[in-house]
Formats: sequence, structure tokens, C-alpha cells
Amino acid sequence: MSAQTDLNTPIKYIKGVGPKRATALATAGIDTVNDLLHYYPRRYLDRTTVKSIRDVKKGDQATMVGTVEVCGERQARKRKLFQAVLSDGTGMITLVWFNGVKYIKNAIQKGDRLAIHGKIEFYNGFQIVHPDFDKLDSDADPINTGTIIPLYPLSAELKKVRIDHRSFRRIIKDIENVFLIIKDHLEESIINEEKLIPLQTALQHIHFPESRENLYAAIDRLKFDEHFYLQLLMALRKNSYEKVGTNALTKSGPQVEQIEGGLGFKLTSAQQKVIQEIREDIALPKAMNRLLQGDVGSGKTIVAIIVAATAVANGVQVAVMAPTEILAHQHYESFKKQLNKVHISCALLVGKQKAAERKQILTAINGGKIDVVVGTHALIQKDVEFKNLGFVVVDEQHRFGVVQRGNLLIKGLHPHLLAMTATPIPRTMAITYHGDMDLSIIDEMPKNRKPVITKIVKEDRLQNVYKFIREEVEAGRQCMVVYPLVEETEKSDLAAASEGYELLQNIFKGINIGLIHGRLKKDEKDAIMESYANNELNILVSTTVIEVGIDIPNASVMLIEHAERFGLTQLHQLRGRVGRGSAKSYCILVERNIRDASRKRLAIMEKTNDGFVIADEDLKMRGPGKFFSTEQSGFFKHKIADMVTDGPIIRQARKIAQNIAKADATLDDHPLLKERLLKEYAQYMETVTIS
Ligand code: ADP
Ligand code: MG
Repeated sequence: MSAQTDLNTPIKYIKGVGPKRATALATAGIDTVNDLLHYYPRRYLDRTTVKSIRDVKKGDQATMVGTVEVCGERQARKRKLFQAVLSDGTGMITLVWFNGVKYIKNAIQKGDRLAIHGKIEFYNGFQIVHPDFDKLDSDADPINTGTIIPLYPLSAELKKVRIDHRSFRRIIKDIENVFLIIKDHLEESIINEEKLIPLQTALQHIHFPESRENLYAAIDRLKFDEHFYLQLLMALRKNSYEKVGTNALTKSGPQVEQIEGGLGFKLTSAQQKVIQEIREDIALPKAMNRLLQGDVGSGKTIVAIIVAATAVANGVQVAVMAPTEILAHQHYESFKKQLNKVHISCALLVGKQKAAERKQILTAINGGKIDVVVGTHALIQKDVEFKNLGFVVVDEQHRFGVVQRGNLLIKGLHPHLLAMTATPIPRTMAITYHGDMDLSIIDEMPKNRKPVITKIVKEDRLQNVYKFIREEVEAGRQCMVVYPLVEETEKSDLAAASEGYELLQNIFKGINIGLIHGRLKKDEKDAIMESYANNELNILVSTTVIEVGIDIPNASVMLIEHAERFGLTQLHQLRGRVGRGSAKSYCILVERNIRDASRKRLAIMEKTNDGFVIADEDLKMRGPGKFFSTEQSGFFKHKIADMVTDGPIIRQARKIAQNIAKADATLDDHPLLKERLLKEYAQYMETVTIS
């Protein structure tokens, strides 16, 4: 290591790297020495993690080490594949690759020592399809040397410039001295009290573990750090919200009782509980920042209507923002129906209104003539000005970013915020992602709800399904058919839905069928939804545009095509579109591309109607990256932290972060923390004030 090497030294100046490798490393997010130290191994090999081939069984996820006995390319039907037989002295296992055959052919040769990892299948003997594999060299074979070997994530770019696990070990070994200049951003007292190890030791041991104990301690410390910064971010966000004083909305108002009295149903106790929580919160002179979580169909809209009426009784205006026009329309109708009864004025603001109409609405909002405005993103446009916006509702909040929410909030003077979501986020995840918000949960369905009966069917049973749908329609009920995006053929969801629409028109002669999709004009969509709502259309064929929110109580059958392409939470949302009335309802999942994994996933839909259980499973199976939308998953782009299994560490990190945020809201006494937070989490700092 040269004398000047420090944590910020660009990686290209390090011995053994050079410009070409530096470019490849950059694609893996490694630009500096510091980035390299924080590029953690993805797995470790040692005697205790390696299984004998003799001991594995079908279905296991296992790591094995062995020698390639034979290997070669083969032609199977239309496809080329590559096979290698691995032996470890206790047994043999076949490795199969269908993709990237050319690459594998060059990478694997007879006699190679390989560490392989994957799911054991049985097909004329044990086999693994597309195993993870690492070539071992003699100094790095855990069986022979008794060491723990770190295996790094190796992308195709890295492999192209011949960076392998050994290269990482060598490069890091070469700059070993930088470990000595690592400063810990956590105070010693915290490290001791929380039984953590110093950052320096953790980084050393993550790359060069000497024992399983010190490796685990290193993992815990680095996991802690990742959770800690997110928790600190949340704690500071919460601080910032709490600092802003605002109008206390203390009156409950006579309107509220009138609305409740005229509903035709009794609010569930869960609905009453959350209404109470919200009222108590907005009665305080600081802005509410609350997330209302409730499964599809749990009745969040009426809660929003009632608390909106409370806000209006206190003389402020209310804005309600929904992610789609269809949903905004439907909310507008629901709000109007209830609010008209008590003479609260209500308007709709969406993108495609006529200029004159829009101008009239804007003037009325600005003049305070309208109490409640329901709309889409149209609400956050510049020309929308309120007289006295005091309360904001954001429905399906996961569809909006923090910035969009913020842009609506600044239209008032620190209005209270109620965000609503039907995505029941598992608890540990909620305290991270929504750690800055207070949480209200509707954990009970209206009593008249019958669980939707869910069935997985294969293509060959579709005739029976169609017959059943006909019977339902003849009994006066309605059906929805949803088509997903068809990725591999690059056929759009629109094309798939249009084709399905034609097919169904042939099958259901004499029955009225409509087609709705995202590319229709607003009035066209509205017209279709309206005729469906009025039962003039018996069957509605759709792309996933109907996913969120809409409420058609007479719809009793939801048929989802290519169900295996959807995430569980999405299926659950779609299923939530039926079962809203008194008729028994059905959700039919058509599975066309049958795989073990999708079978297992879909079976969960048959088993439960509980959104929390489903979200948990979804998260376990797909991981946070796919569970959340892109904007959200960026936030969770962790290297080592695991949102699903790190519960205790998350709580520990949360406690420490909250203490620090409370004692030092500007982080001036914690310069290292402040620096890293501002550097690495800049994009999430918009709503945080720490100066
Ligand atoms: P979500 O929580 O998914 O937004 P909605 O607010 O759309 O659910 O409510 C679904 C349906 O349930 C609506 O038709 C609504 O009128 C009805 N509903 C709400 N609360 C109750 C209740 N306590 N009892 C019976 N029906 C209710
Ligand atoms: Mg809703």
C-alpha cells in the first residue's frame, strides 16, 4: 500500500486493479477503497456449511464441494444445455445449465474443484438446475484447509475482467493498513453497552473471518449499521414533523354524528378505534403524520370521510389525493354522498377537466367555497391554491413518493396528514419504512363480509369455469377478468386483454362484455366503469388498471389470468375487488405456466384471506426488492441487512437512533454520523431539517 492510500482513494490506483478492472468494479458500486471494504461477501464456505452429497435430499438448499468428473454440452429437444457431474467421494450430483451455455462451457472443465449451491431436485438422480458455483483453488478449499472462505457477489462484468473471490481477498489484503484508519461513527459507550464490536474489527472479520464467532459478530455489527442509518433518518424525519406547530382541530362537530347515523351499517369497532386515534391526534397543536393501514375492504374510505368532516367542522379545508382517476372519481362519489347530507361542499379535481371547469373549481377552492377537494396528482399542480388547507388524506399512499406527499402538504400551513394503505406491511418493515409515522390499524372486517372463495385452476378446467361464470351472470351478478403483462413474449397487457376480450365475446354470446385499460381516455374509462357499476356490463375484461380501490358490490367473480405472474399482495388486492356485497364471491386463479414456486405461492391465496399473512409470505418469498415499488425498494437496497429476519437488530438500532435524534436533533455533536447520513441518504433527506 502506498503511503497516501486512504478510504477515499479511487480504486483504480490500488495495486492489481487498474483502469479496466476499475470500470468493472464501478458497475458493482465500488469506486473507492471505502466502497471496497463495504463490499461484503455474499456467502461463506467452511466445513460446517458444506454438506456431503450423500446427506442431501430432494428439496434441500445446500452447499457442496466436489470435483468435476465429466462435463459437456448436450442437445435436448430444441435447446442446448450444459451438464457437469460433480463427485465428492460420498456421491454424485448433476449440474445443469439451460442458459449461458457458452459461458459455462468456458468456465468449467473436467477436474475443477467447485463449491456449488442450489436447490436439490431429483431427475434420474440428484441434480441442481442453474446452481451458484465458485471455482476453488487449492489454497481456498475449506475441506482441505479448515478455513472460512468468503464468496463475493460476482457479476458478469467482474468475471469478464477476471475478478474472482481470490482477487477480492488479494486486493483487500494488499491494502490491509487502511483498516487502521477507519474511524468508528458510533461512540464507544454505545458499542460497549449494546455489545457490538468496533467497525474496524467488523470490517476486518467480514473479509478475513478467523472463526465463526467473530464472523457472526462482524455481521451483526454491519447489519446494525445499515438499520441504524435508516432508523436515524426516520427519527430525524419524525423530529422535523413534530417541530412544526399547527392548528389544533379540537371540535368533533355535529356533522359527524349525522353521517354515522345515516350510513345504513354500523362502524366496526376497529373503525371506531382508528377514528378516535385520529381525532385525538389532530386535536393537538402539532401536525399529525399518521398511516392508516387496513386490508382491502376493511372500510378505510368511510373513516377518511368522517375525519374529513371533523376537520371541516374546525373551519379548515381538506384535500384527498388518490393515485388514479377512476379511484378519484369513486372517492368523490363516496365523499359527496355522505358530505352532501350535512351540507359540506365537495369538488373533484383531475387532470383532464376542461379549462373553464377547472378554473371555476380552482377559484372556488382558493376562495374557500369548497371544503373538501378530491383528486389525483392534479391537486399538486402549481395553480392549485387553497384558502386554508388544514387536513390532507393520501389514499393508497405507497403509490406516491415522499416528495409528492410533500408537495400536497405545502399547499397548506402544516396540515395534518392521514396516509392510507391496503398493503399490510409486516411490523419490522413498518418501523423502518414508516418509522417516521404513527400507525393506526384497522384489524377487523365489516361483519357482513364473507371470505372470498379462492381456487387455482389449470387451463383444462376453464370450460367449467366459464359455465360457472355464465350461471353467476344469469343470476344477476357480475364478473371481472384481469390480464397481466406478458413479459417474455413482449406482448403488452393491453394486447393480452384485447385478445382475451375477443375470446370471451365468443364464449359468452348474449352477455355484455366491456374492456378497460390504461390507455383509454378518461371519459371512455369513466363511461365503461359507469356502465359496469350500473350492471349494464356483466363482465369486465381489464388490464391491471382496476387493481386499486374501486368498489362494485355486485361483482362476485374475479378471474385472474396467468395468476403465476402476479405477486401475492397484488393478487390479494385484485381479489379484494369482489366480496364487497352480500353474495358469495369467488376468485379464480388461472395458472398457465406451472412451476413449483408459483404453485406454492398461489396455494397461499387458497388458504387465507388475511392480508397480513399474505404480505408476510410475499415478503419472505420475493424479498423487499420486489415486494416494494421501485422507489421504495431503492430505500431498502441493503448489502447485509435483512428486513425480514433482523427484527431484534432493527429494534436495537431504532432505540439508539431515537435516543441520538432526541438528544442531538441537528447531529452537530455527531459529525461522523451527520456526514455519512448526508452523503449516503441524501435523496431521502428532503423532508428532514438537521440544520
Ligand atoms: P378499503 O378499505 O379497501 O378502501 P372501502 O372503504 O372501499 O374499503 O370499503 C369497502 C366497502 O365496505 C364499501 O362499500 C363500504 O361502504 C363498506 N363498508 C365500510 N365500512 C363498513 C361497515 N362497518 N359495515 C359494512 N360495510 C362497510
Ligand atoms: Mg380504498
